[in-house]
Amino acid sequence: MLKEALSQGGVRVRFAPSPTGYFHVGSARTALFNWLFARHNHGTFILRIEDTDITRSKPEWIAGIVDALNWLGIQPDEGPYFQSGRQKLYQAAVDKLLAKGCLYGCDCTHQDVEARTRGLSKPGYDGYCRDRGLQPGPGRALRFRVPDSGFVQIEDVVRGTVTFQHEYLEDFVVLKGDGQPLFVLANTVDDIDMGITHVIRGEDLLPSVPKGILIWQALDGGKLPCFAHLPMLVDAKRRKLSKRRDPVSLVEYQRQGYIPTAFCNYLALLGWNPEGGRQGREQQQATHQGDIPGTVSLNEMVKVFCLEDVNSSPAFFDVKKLTHINAVYIRSMTTEQFILETYPFLESEFGPGEFDKTVFRRLAPSVQSRVSTLSEVAPMVAFALLNKVELADSLIDETSWKKTVIDDPKAIEILRAVFDTYSRCDWMEQVIKEKTLNIAVKLQLKLAKAQAPIRVAVTGNVVGLPLFESLEVIGREKTLARIKHAIDVIDEVQHS
Ligand code: GLU
Repeated sequence: MLKEALSQGGVRVRFAPSPTGYFHVGSARTALFNWLFARHNHGTFILRIEDTDITRSKPEWIAGIVDALNWLGIQPDEGPYFQSGRQKLYQAAVDKLLAKGCLYGCDCTHQDVEARTRGLSKPGYDGYCRDRGLQPGPGRALRFRVPDSGFVQIEDVVRGTVTFQHEYLEDFVVLKGDGQPLFVLANTVDDIDMGITHVIRGEDLLPSVPKGILIWQALDGGKLPCFAHLPMLVDAKRRKLSKRRDPVSLVEYQRQGYIPTAFCNYLALLGWNPEGGRQGREQQQATHQGDIPGTVSLNEMVKVFCLEDVNSSPAFFDVKKLTHINAVYIRSMTTEQFILETYPFLESEFGPGEFDKTVFRRLAPSVQSRVSTLSEVAPMVAFALLNKVELADSLIDETSWKKTVIDDPKAIEILRAVFDTYSRCDWMEQVIKEKTLNIAVKLQLKLAKAQAPIRVAVTGNVVGLPLFESLEVIGREKTLARIKHAIDVIDEVQHS
């Protein structure tokens, strides 16, 4: 089947992660670029799990890869294939390379090599076993006999012409002493077998290119794939993204309530610059035709994506920009969509059935225009959604409470006056607002100043949703009970 696809000349790309850790945003970018390229060219996007390193690969990391692709909305057309189930293929390749005299056995330990090469200008393996005639066997690695002179050259779509001189390449291991194939062997054998036409991956893998090509050619793999090594992702200080310093785990973004399409939209811009590239004009059009102004839908990206528009300079992974794009997406949703997307976050925060869905529905439009991620919703609406009349201590911001309720001498007057008025007036946003304004005028205060202690007493914080709308929505009973509580606390403080 693979051969058939090849003979039809179709594009075949693969995303080939090693399941040795959580899913990194850089992997998400690689997967997305492969997917966009495949879709644009009506090709095939393959998922290949490179789990040959059995000590480091774990089932939960594999599940993490599949979940991440699902979340991003870029499912593979083929696979997942697992390298752990393809050992026979690698063994056959080793046999072929051995028969051709490309490999030799080596029983040197790291310490042996180090002792012999310490102080030498050329690092790496020194070729000690090249002519010792060691046959393959337990405890013996197999090394590739790299020609002494010559070079490998590729035309990388992103990086241009890249040349690798053989003299700088050591005789590298393809099979470990315990019989496990090394990454570069399994990777190359699979690329040949799966008919991969384009290798699109991170720039960190560039050094493995000459090894892969030597194996490819020795195995008579046929036409080499086209390479595109994507620029490194860096932080604001132009340092390579690091696990310790930067939020790089995709799951973290998922938990914080980033929207997958917004995330893809941002990822696509990491190294891909459609506007400056040769398809710029079409991209401009796409931007205007996109579902959301200023953003590009996945479908629109597919239409204009091309590898030639990827540039080689490091790409700044800017969480602020990502968050901005996310906010734009959230605002562009219908309220109904926003409510549906938000429920899981509210359920995990408050517990299913533990919050008032009707109240949330009423507040949703105001919330939607104020949040940048969906995890910001629960803290913003907790004061209104939880069924308890009184405000939970955990929802009270201590600093706001002290400054606005306890330490402000006007607070008690304001709260007493509104308590009285709110007990009698019609319970409608506009009316509540007018009555509060009247009280502010009487007390010679600006509305904002008069509002502050009310807001803190009822919602627990000085900032938040529009106050009078919130009061209408949570109802008279809760509002009065919370104001009363604040009055009691002030009284207590003043009389103690
Ligand atoms: N499995 C390799 C890695 O995760 C990637 C291989 C490739 O894309 O060629 O680093």
